[in-house]
Amino acid sequence: MCGIFGCLSNNDNIALLMLKGLKRLEYRGYDSCGMAFLDNHVINVKKDVGEIDRVNDKVNFLELKGHLGIAHTRWSTTGKVTKQNSHPHQSCDGNISIVHNGIIENYEEIKQVLTVIGHKFVSNTDSEVIAHYFEEKLKNKSINEACIDFIKEIKGTFAILLLKQDEDKIYALKRDSPLAVGICKDKNILASDIHAFSNLTNKAIFFDNDEFGIITKDSYELFNKDGKAIEKLIKSFEWKEEETGKKKYKHFMMKEIEEEPKVVDRLLRSLDYEQKNDFGKLIELIKKSKKIIFAACGTSYHASLLGAYYLHKIGVEVQTLIASEFKHYANVDKDTLVIAISQSGETMDVIDALNYAKEKNAKIVSLVNVPYSTIQRMSELSLNILAGQEISVASTKAFVNQTVLLLRIAQEFGYGVNLKNLSAKLKNLFQQKEKIRKIAKKISQSNDAYIIGRGLTYPVAREIALKIKEISYIHAEGMMGGELKHGTLALIDDGTPVISLISNSDEDIISNTREVEARGADITIITNNPTFKEQENVIYVNTGNDGKFGLLAATAGQLLAYHIADVLGRPIDKPKNLSKSISVR
Ligand code: GLU
Repeated sequence: MCGIFGCLSNNDNIALLMLKGLKRLEYRGYDSCGMAFLDNHVINVKKDVGEIDRVNDKVNFLELKGHLGIAHTRWSTTGKVTKQNSHPHQSCDGNISIVHNGIIENYEEIKQVLTVIGHKFVSNTDSEVIAHYFEEKLKNKSINEACIDFIKEIKGTFAILLLKQDEDKIYALKRDSPLAVGICKDKNILASDIHAFSNLTNKAIFFDNDEFGIITKDSYELFNKDGKAIEKLIKSFEWKEEETGKKKYKHFMMKEIEEEPKVVDRLLRSLDYEQKNDFGKLIELIKKSKKIIFAACGTSYHASLLGAYYLHKIGVEVQTLIASEFKHYANVDKDTLVIAISQSGETMDVIDALNYAKEKNAKIVSLVNVPYSTIQRMSELSLNILAGQEISVASTKAFVNQTVLLLRIAQEFGYGVNLKNLSAKLKNLFQQKEKIRKIAKKISQSNDAYIIGRGLTYPVAREIALKIKEISYIHAEGMMGGELKHGTLALIDDGTPVISLISNSDEDIISNTREVEARGADITIITNNPTFKEQENVIYVNTGNDGKFGLLAATAGQLLAYHIADVLGRPIDKPKNLSKSISVR
């Protein structure tokens, strides 16, 4: 899930632009990073292990000269996090340099063949074979022929940028991993996603699978897998750029949580105006479909579970499946509507699920945050959740807007909820920061935490557990209160933290809370039930409505998870081993 970035410009000094562009992709991976610049027919490379700022302090990317360069920020899939394994990778003669996002599945086979004929490898990544493969092919073939062969012979996924020492061009190839060209007046930019260049242009072309291209500073040519030139339409995109930088905040995550009221209002307005037509079409499609299945992963899956709850309450039958298991559990046909939910719109598991559904002739729609993302382009209808750029790896405001959109859909079918005052209620919640911090301090001392919910609050329990795990590294389990007695109770001891989500006066979850309390658990309650309001261990959510409580309780959980991680001094925006856009299987 690396980020790749390339630039060809009129300007001779693009190092700062390259650095800024790469930083905008850092949420895609931050194990290591590097750049290769072409300067007077020489390729200069700088790379090292660590986040971009740290590597830049060490190697000073700004010293790189030239009007043409490629860059990479890595989330390793193959080969450890080392300098040798960092991209860009070079051919033996140093004439070719490449950056790669994806996985070359048959790299061992290719590496073996190339080694036998004399190629020397310096890394143990899959990606290095790309540089050597082209070096070998170009001995007796044109670059276009080499690209055609590559697409034919390589198994796996790739977005690749390739520099050749003797040419003022970037060659680009794509299968499954995302790749776009940002068209600017005085330069062309290649990148994994539009956010990398959305501060410079709102015009882009998007590569489709098994296409390759030749890009110069003022032209682009694209070809299909047989080498036939193809026409590409330039798309104008709209992308909500929030104020960049952390501003007064210590972490992007808190900034993004506090943006929730604003993005909720933006989405609700747009569903009444700009997206009204598409929203209407979605409702019609849902009404017409015999079967509806959500496909999503991680946090988006939890939003989909909430959506399933809301829709079930008013008699609309839906199923939700974790996308990576979709083909094993979904029974899909031409009368099925598959609704994909994804923040990035690039989640490989969701893309696989949609491809499977397409083969069975199902209809595909999607709810995504990033316009023109692969999932949006695969869908016959797609709604933008308009959460704006999320930099923190842990998704917060995107989850909220996914859920708001699902609530709006349920509302169309008769689900009773007033969304107009939701943003005010979110702001209200932020005022409990001190109390939440105090509770967080206590929980931060434990190795495990359990979060229990029922019905509406079961998805929320799972989402809170996920947030705690991903940013604080505390083991957390979000579960149905009713399941405690079937095993997990054995793990409850004196002082074990249990967070109980109590909607109104749900007697069943209140009983479950008593059961764990009787065994010594240290209880935190998130509730909209005023009878608990004044207790020290309670985060009170002021709403009578169930549907809204689910959403607000999740935000309370985001705040709690944030403070637990902050007390522990974790790198909240970039948790270890994770990446925001999961474009591998
Ligand atoms: N497979 C490559 C590596 O491990 C690229 C990783 C990725 O795109 O996530 O370096």
